[in-house]
Amino acid sequence: MNELKEILKFYRDMGAEFLHLPESDPRAELAELNRAILRCRQCRLHETKTNYVPGEGSQRPDIIFIGEGPGQTEDQFGRPFIGNAGQLLDKIIQKMGYRREDVFIGNVVKCRPPNNREPLPDEVDACLPFLRRQIELLRPQVIVCLGKVALNNLLGTNHSMGRIRGQRLQFNHIPLIPTYHPSYILHKKEKEEISRTKREVWDDMQSVLAIIAEKRH
Ligand code: URA
Repeated sequence: MNELKEILKFYRDMGAEFLHLPESDPRAELAELNRAILRCRQCRLHETKTNYVPGEGSQRPDIIFIGEGPGQTEDQFGRPFIGNAGQLLDKIIQKMGYRREDVFIGNVVKCRPPNNREPLPDEVDACLPFLRRQIELLRPQVIVCLGKVALNNLLGTNHSMGRIRGQRLQFNHIPLIPTYHPSYILHKKEKEEISRTKREVWDDMQSVLAIIAEKRH
């Protein structure tokens, strides 16, 4: 025990703020986590869903994109962001120089809330440990929260997206960039508003790319 204390003190004195202890096998743990999601009955959403939507993508992603919860198309196919909002997200990812399979795409809740309502607090409480563990195992360089539901549930805050976007936040020492949900852009009617919102999302994605570039140097 004393030896362990000395080792930890050594690393602390060297300036380390936290230590990554070797994980048994992150890939195996991710696969097990996926299986746990697919058999979850912790909240009522599993009763009305068609398919669980655990999330998908690279197991060593630079970026994790987090949405609110599966919509109708996602529920039908068991894959995140494949409807209209997903097609816009795909364009954003491509414009950033990535392919969809290079990043990880997930949601706060893994089952579709009926009629696309916001997930209720007890549903989020039941599901959030899955997302937390996904982030821990995937160890992204940056987290992008798409919309205030994803942001506020992950951080336990109550921010308005219009006010908080443009700032760099953190989740468990990982930089977090909040931005508008793609559906928010799709629901805009005025041309000027659409352009402004798209520009703001693109500015946020520039911050994401800047963080990744900073980490590489
Ligand atoms: N909206 C979300 O928040 N997540 C999805 O997977 C699809 C649409």
